[in-house]
Amino acid sequence: MQHHPHPPSELPTHIPLDKVPPLYGGHRAALSLNVIVVGAGIGGLAATHTLAHAGHRITLLESASVLSDVGAGIQVSPNATRLLHRWGLGPALAAVAVEPAAIVFRRYDTGSRVGYTRWGTRMVEDHGSPYYHIHRGDYHAMLLRIARASPGVRIRLNAAVRDVQPDPALPGGPSVTLASGEVLYADVIVGADGIKSTLQRAVTGIDDTPMPTGDAAYRAIICTDSMLQDPELRQFVETPEMTAWMAPRRHLMAYNIVSRTPFFKMPSTSLALLDEKI
Ligand SMILES: Cc1cc2nc3c(=O)[nH]c(=O)nc-3n(C[C@H](O)[C@H](O)[C@H](O)COP(=O)(O)OP(=O)(O)OC[C@H]3O[C@@H](n4cnc5c(N)ncnc54)[C@H](O)[C@@H]3O)c2cc1C
Repeated sequence: MQHHPHPPSELPTHIPLDKVPPLYGGHRAALSLNVIVVGAGIGGLAATHTLAHAGHRITLLESASVLSDVGAGIQVSPNATRLLHRWGLGPALAAVAVEPAAIVFRRYDTGSRVGYTRWGTRMVEDHGSPYYHIHRGDYHAMLLRIARASPGVRIRLNAAVRDVQPDPALPGGPSVTLASGEVLYADVIVGADGIKSTLQRAVTGIDDTPMPTGDAAYRAIICTDSMLQDPELRQFVETPEMTAWMAPRRHLMAYNIVSRTPFFKMPSTSLALLDEKI
């Protein structure tokens, strides 16, 4: 797997960023709350940005010691891009993300096309906003930039939350305990700690530990420079589509994740092989 060619802790200079517009028509909450957001991933950064613009004071806690460019392709559907546009990220998305022209289903053995749904501009026509494929590093970097620029935001790295106390009736009110033993209090705690969430159980009361299913997914990124040199693979870069090759008990998905703009040195295609019952 290739690593992304820029550290996403700062927004890469080639991504154009509009001035971040004020949210809620510039209105702020009458009561400014102390909010702890746990997890500086996609949801945590988005929550930080929007809550800060509403006038709340945010402490964003992230277990990782650095926010690195781990990840590959991620899909950003119109319900999300509508918000990202509102937050001034439209030009940045258009510059680095890829707008797939269609989703295409193919036979695994012959490559013949058995299904086709046009996407591209139809997403805007049908859903009011575009659908993108993007490298998670770019997506995360955009959100990190606007969250950092939001008023009253403090980001703490190396701050893994070990436990949460959600009861407002207890002395001090709701709190989180970090792995270091430090206890932090807040008016509101937002759990955005991803798929292996520590906080989810405090809300749902359910132990949602992942269960083995027997399925496995493998992921790889291929540099499109190599694909463009291959007469059979070239088409998958020149016409960006989301392609699914269907086979008995397994399938392969592929899509472009970095726009072929002059800004970017290394456009790439993300592949994911979903292998069932291995
Ligand atoms: C490093 C990384 C790479 C990913 N790459 C891809 C990808 O290539 N393609 C894809 O489709 N999806 C990827 N995902 C998953 C995808 O980002 C999320 O599933 C989706 O965006 C939902 O976002 P989320 O905010 O719920 O969680 P995430 O974006 O997963 O963010 C959760 C954050 O919470 C932090 N965290 C977790 N536990 C704690 C804790 N106890 N205390 C403090 N912080 C904590 C994590 O370090 C992480 O930064 C990746 C997630 C991560 C963390």
